[in-house]
Amino acid sequence: MNLDEIKDRIKRGLLKLPGKLKEPLTKGLPDYLKDPANYDKIQRALLETLASTHSHSEMMQWAGCKSCMEKVREHKLLMIRLGFKTPAMYYEWKKTMEIMIRGLRDPIGPKNEPAGASK
Ligand SMILES: [Zn+2]
Repeated sequence: MNLDEIKDRIKRGLLKLPGKLKEPLTKGLPDYLKDPANYDKIQRALLETLASTHSHSEMMQWAGCKSCMEKVREHKLLMIRLGFKTPAMYYEWKKTMEIMIRGLRDPIGPKNEPAGASK
């Protein structure tokens, strides 16, 4: 195949050049974030930054509370320190981890268990 033949085939759609693959959102995550064994630990650490003795019934009250906003700031900082570059990356990671963990711990799932399955 010479170059003109190749060009012709590309034009007619017979030969596809490898397209640039869309980078997965979780690409570039540090290895410890890729390990499902660390999932609970990471989630707990993130939740702890948000833990508060306050309870605000109104969203606006919460948004105006210095202490609660400080916790939100800590939460964001921790996320960045853990290696999440964007919130979208965190949600993608969370989704992926939950699928992986469910697969590891409970391949069938309690609701899909066949009727009469014995333990
Ligand atoms: Zn508060």
